[in-house]
Amino acid sequence: MESNKNKLTKGIIYSTVIISALPYLFMLAGVDFGWQRTPLNADEFGRMSGAEQLDSVVSSLIGAFLHLILEWSAVVIAMATAILAFVQYRITGNSATAIIGIALLCAGFMDAFHALSASKIIHSVADNSNFIPFSWALSRVFKALILFAGVGIFLLGLDKQKSKRTKDSFVLSTSLIFLAVSYLLIRICAVSNNLPKTQFPDQLITRPYDVFPLALFVVLAAWAIPTFRKKEKSIFSHALLWSMVPAIATQLHMAFGSSELFDAHFNAGHFLKTVSYIVPFIGVTIDYFTTYKEQRLQLLEIKKAHHSLENKNRELSQIAYVTSHDLQEPLRTLMSMCDIFDQQYRDKLDPEAQQLLKYIMQSSQRMSALVRDLMVYNYIGKNKDLSMVDCNLLLKSVQEDLDSKIKEHKASITVTELPKVQAHETELRLLFQNLISNAIKFRKKDQKPEILISYQEKRGKWLFSVADNGIGIAEKHQEKIFRIFQRLHNKKEYEGTGVGLAHCKKIIDQHGGEIWVESAENAGSTFHFTIPK
Ligand code: ADP
Repeated sequence: MESNKNKLTKGIIYSTVIISALPYLFMLAGVDFGWQRTPLNADEFGRMSGAEQLDSVVSSLIGAFLHLILEWSAVVIAMATAILAFVQYRITGNSATAIIGIALLCAGFMDAFHALSASKIIHSVADNSNFIPFSWALSRVFKALILFAGVGIFLLGLDKQKSKRTKDSFVLSTSLIFLAVSYLLIRICAVSNNLPKTQFPDQLITRPYDVFPLALFVVLAAWAIPTFRKKEKSIFSHALLWSMVPAIATQLHMAFGSSELFDAHFNAGHFLKTVSYIVPFIGVTIDYFTTYKEQRLQLLEIKKAHHSLENKNRELSQIAYVTSHDLQEPLRTLMSMCDIFDQQYRDKLDPEAQQLLKYIMQSSQRMSALVRDLMVYNYIGKNKDLSMVDCNLLLKSVQEDLDSKIKEHKASITVTELPKVQAHETELRLLFQNLISNAIKFRKKDQKPEILISYQEKRGKWLFSVADNGIGIAEKHQEKIFRIFQRLHNKKEYEGTGVGLAHCKKIIDQHGGEIWVESAENAGSTFHFTIPK
């Protein structure tokens, strides 16, 4: 069973059905909605004063005015529906809404043309008594066919575009095709002076040309739209389905009732046609507000989650700070006691006890290094001061700091001309320091380390690269090395705490950039990172 979530309310459905039947019921009760033209009598007209002449001209045009008002209301509603359908498409990415919206808009354009030409506001060649009923029937057929086309796109599964870009081009090209076809039909209709006779007042079917759109609307209501709704469960599609009730009622009035322009069935038909545009408009409006409400709720939830995450982060960082800070003190005492013990009692200890003492000293040193790195990790992100950093000067000073290591391993470091960037200077220095130290540390046994530091300017960001000729990193490890305390080697092979790259990641996150490595085992590594401009 389909939930009520994607349906019009019962109230709207009942109102649609009642309104669709109402004109006929009123007519049965004797109400006359007709506004036939009163032919102007030339003699009488000649005897009238200017004001009377104006009055009589205006009253003879009331039927045409009414026609224009009804038609134009439908056009405006079709436009509003298309606009909301496109807004909805922008928010949800659902192309069905946009395409049906544009189909309704094109139908609206046909109606606009029919109304404007009938009122002689835009020029058409044919006589009004043929032009109005013919272009009306044409615009009804067009509306039904274009809805078939819109719905058919989804029934035939032509809407499978994945990316937003291809979806946009699909919606745009479909809209353009729909608009082009509607323009072409309007053009043909406007220049034809030989439009067929479409009204036969003495026959049972007074406007046989309206039977075809009637049949099309029935098929749309009975098969095409319900099938479409199985795929596209929105209030808009439900409204489209129910809009077929006034559309069918319209055609019944026109095909079997209206025998001349502006008679009761003619006006009832035009009124119901407007209703058939109002119903989808209500659907898309409700869809829009439902989406808007859902998005607001989601936003509130995200805000709440963000707030609680911030609190948790603050708490965690506080815990990390207190533990690492408080651990330093007993650790320092432990290390100095071990030193004193070592100096004073070394000679009195047997070799096994000496070895044990050495292990204790090594472990406490390692723990001290870990705690220190954890404190640094915790500190990263607290500094909010951004400044213009000249990376050339920064790299020079980093190399000076690492001078003894560079000389010890005969490392060659090439730095291309680097840019000035807006960054947190202390953290950026730590980042380069870590990457260069690692490039030296993870060198191949039989090769001197060669390091190249360069950059490229990408759209909106700086892309830095630190390449080495070291031992490389297997692909499966390339993500986990950026996590804290993750190492690929034990400390006997390579010294370290496994925090360096976690520092780098946190620093780059703080700058709003990205960091990754390109490498293969034994083939050197290139660490890339970006900093937004
Ligand atoms: P540490 O250097 O203390 O081990 P890092 O976080 O700096 O910790 O690095 C994590 C792991 O990533 C290292 O243990 C090492 O296995 C690998 N690694 C980092 N840089 C390089 C590099 N330039 N070449 C090869 N492996 C690297």
